[in-house]
Amino acid sequence: MTRPHLKKFRRIVVKVGSSLLIDSAAGKVRGEWLSALAADIAGLHGDGCDVLVVSSGAVALGRSKLKLPRGPLKLEESQAAAAVGQIALARIWSKVLADHGIGAGQILVTWQDTEERRRYLNARSTIAKLLEWRAVPVINENDTVATNEIRYGDNDRLAARVATMASADLLILLSDIDGLYDAPPHLNPEAKLIPVVKRVTADIEAMAGSAASELSRGGMRTKIEAAKIATTAGTHMLIASGTIEHPLRAIMDAGPCTWFLTPANPVTARKRWIAGSLEPRGTLKIDAGAVAALRAGKSLLPAGVTRIDGHFARGDAVIVRGPNGHEIGRGLVAYDAADADRIKGRSSSDAAQLLGVRGRVEMIHRDDLVVGSPGEAG
Ligand code: GLU
Repeated sequence: MTRPHLKKFRRIVVKVGSSLLIDSAAGKVRGEWLSALAADIAGLHGDGCDVLVVSSGAVALGRSKLKLPRGPLKLEESQAAAAVGQIALARIWSKVLADHGIGAGQILVTWQDTEERRRYLNARSTIAKLLEWRAVPVINENDTVATNEIRYGDNDRLAARVATMASADLLILLSDIDGLYDAPPHLNPEAKLIPVVKRVTADIEAMAGSAASELSRGGMRTKIEAAKIATTAGTHMLIASGTIEHPLRAIMDAGPCTWFLTPANPVTARKRWIAGSLEPRGTLKIDAGAVAALRAGKSLLPAGVTRIDGHFARGDAVIVRGPNGHEIGRGLVAYDAADADRIKGRSSSDAAQLLGVRGRVEMIHRDDLVVGSPGEAG
């Protein structure tokens, strides 16, 4: 598959980083640039595409409005700055979209909203309703209440979760770099842009590690993490430069960018949620026979499990690893860690007896299991 055309997509999430939106020297929003982006968004919207915006900039904007000195902020300072900045950010988005006759709806999400099933479903239905009304959701992390321990911190991964939550078919990360390079472009003049990534392998992750950090705010690492979340869940992703005017038009005109393609088979909403769950509570190690069974679409039985790590409860997300430690998949485990440990390596009938239950005993049911393709990094 070569690069697809933007017009092919019916639901697109556009993530805009702080450094694009805010001119930090002047301490204000880059108005002309944003208007041009809004015109691009209106173009897609007018063609019938649902567009969602994930916009950073609350902290940066609040900071400049409050005239805070440069340097790192304490948590409560950045939360207070975000409180000031987010109002301004929402107003600006509302204005530039209204210029095209499009309504904007602000959604501030926390990590729990995307990771807890009930809240996830709530956020999902709000987004669905806004889109049904043809409004553009403008989303950011709720920085004013998110604490250091439980927050995304970067809008790359947040945008990927939003994209999977909204069942978007494309996520566009507008960045200060036009894509993923095979070497650090600022150090190596021979560095080449990678136009299409078919699968996020260990090699790709290694490139992000070296090519990254100073070049963009969230860094290439969080973008690759976002690519993993998005592509595992059936959403294509692309990284393109947002430093130019009309960045979406540039993508349509075949401008430089990196596409991360997802395999064609869409996964169910439940599987999307499992695949993207950021906080696995434990790990199940399995033998080669179980790896083959899982890849053939079967459930994970206790007999194939060789080792249990972590403190997890029934229903928690766990990582499943093969004999050599590679990630095979993720799933919702049917037993807590203590029970899982008791029944590991046992036949299903022994396991049932040990647990005092009747019938089939599956460690992870196939419907609760997302298995990556062989060769996939993890
Ligand atoms: N949520 C943060 C903000 O609006 C931005 C996070 C990021 O830059 O990725 O300021």
